Amino acid sequence: MGAMEVPETITCVDCGQPAHRLSHPPEEGWEIGDYVAYRCSGCNDRWDLVVCDEDAPPPFPSYASEFRALREERSAPPAPDS
Ligand SMILES: [Zn+2]
Repeated sequence: MGAMEVPETITCVDCGQPAHRLSHPPEEGWEIGDYVAYRCSGCNDRWDLVVCDEDAPPPFPSYASEFRALREERSAPPAPDS
């Protein structure tokens, strides 16, 4: 398993200035779920990012499967009166 790439700087979404990384990489490299802290050089805000795998599928079901579930629900026979 390869180490994740973490940028030295990110762009602050508040003021647009570069934010420099505060955290030092672990000896074995960054891993998914690690927190990386940045300090903005403009507004001095701190940003904590979580290292994530961009290739990983989103953790929610796709619209297609959601739509299928909705159709199956609608086509199900009506519940008997209790
Ligand atoms: Zn800023």
